[in-house]
Amino acid sequence: MDLLDQIFKAGVVGAGGAGFPTHVKLNCKVEYLILNGSECEPLLATDKYLMRTKAKEIIETLEKIAELIEAKKIVIGLKHKYKSEIESLQLAIKNMNSRVELHYLDNFYPAGDEQILVYEITGKTIPPAGIPLHVGAVVSNVGTVVNINEALNNTPVMYSYVSVLGEIRNPVILKVPIGTPIIKCIEEAGGSPLNDYSIILGGPMMGKILNKSDLEHSVITKTNGAIIVVPDNHYLVERDKISIEHIINRAKSACIQCSYCTQFCPRYLIGHPIEPHKIMRTLSLSKNEEIIKETQLCSECGVCELYACPMGLSPRQVNIFLKNELREKGFRYKNTESEFYAREGRENRKIPTKRLMARVDVIKYYGQEIEESKEIFVSTVKIPLQQHIGKSATSLVNIGEMVTKGQQIGSVEKGELGANIHASISGKVVEVNNFIVIENEKMEDEA
Ligand code: SF4
Ligand code: SF4
Repeated sequence: MDLLDQIFKAGVVGAGGAGFPTHVKLNCKVEYLILNGSECEPLLATDKYLMRTKAKEIIETLEKIAELIEAKKIVIGLKHKYKSEIESLQLAIKNMNSRVELHYLDNFYPAGDEQILVYEITGKTIPPAGIPLHVGAVVSNVGTVVNINEALNNTPVMYSYVSVLGEIRNPVILKVPIGTPIIKCIEEAGGSPLNDYSIILGGPMMGKILNKSDLEHSVITKTNGAIIVVPDNHYLVERDKISIEHIINRAKSACIQCSYCTQFCPRYLIGHPIEPHKIMRTLSLSKNEEIIKETQLCSECGVCELYACPMGLSPRQVNIFLKNELREKGFRYKNTESEFYAREGRENRKIPTKRLMARVDVIKYYGQEIEESKEIFVSTVKIPLQQHIGKSATSLVNIGEMVTKGQQIGSVEKGELGANIHASISGKVVEVNNFIVIENEKMEDEA
């Protein structure tokens, strides 16, 4: 069986972001294979942990992927402040006599945005609405490469590594069976000292805010890497509650057209034709369709609203709203230019991560001591059949059936955009819907 088949069989998807099926992504020939080791968002610790502890597996796997896609260069992009990770990777490279190179980045946000990372490493701007493939690159996440390594050993994706930090008694990186309730991860980290808290699933800039009642139904999937516990009245939680009507009304009345949102926009700075201040302006005029189209180039990184805007406005939310309207009308951005160049002054407008953390009120969690990986055991998992972009998997099991850990329980056809799903614990199937619930009463005892 070749590597692509092994990856498909194991159900590997992009471990960060939207979960693009990896067997589809790697079905190409490119010049650059890039490993994104720069933790796009502030505070996240999982990728660093994996680079420190699984350096040998990562380098070995990158070499195999590079062979598959015929990459001439293999580059790991990571921040130069990651001293221990650099040490571990350098040692593995040396011991294996590998051709993997390390590319060091400053500590800025969003260094781990795929498009920014590709620009930093190759000096090429991916065309607007394009993907790394358009400039001869493929970018993989650290967790994805670790999962490919497991796939090479015939082990399917059954776990996510998740950092639990913030307002929590024992910040920790957990190895969590897919389908584990998020609330269980919080308990395993000693619980929160706060009675009223919300969580950010992902990083503080782009993560999803969930309140305590959302948590009752939420589980860990293949794409989750962090849980940040914050007070219920945290700045980011309060912002998340503001309605889009209010956001648009404020944009119309309070935008002073200073253009800071554009001047700091990371996508504008690599040369894309997106100018959020003009999008904001068009809200109070008759809508200019040409400008509205630019919303499709927004990565939703949040720099404009959480860092740049002196009026506390939300160009990002406006973009998301307008983008959805365009999507409903079936509009897709068409790029007509062939060359793009980074704007002058880009280097001076990179956002220092520490300043950003202070701005969004998470600096107090920076440098929290985080316990290194602890595997958790659960008696029930609720495994979604769709944890990836594309088609949902079809259940292969029925209620009452016994399954074993690692058994395939959901499938997609080989040529489809989708991913197979596997049982993350052994036990009895008690529910099949758009998720599969497995129960095993003995499991808690194993912990
Ligand atoms: S969220 Fe704002 S800063 Fe980020 S890409 Fe979109 S417009 Fe630019
Ligand atoms: S930074 Fe704020 S006030 Fe300035 S143009 Fe952008 S949205 Fe308007």
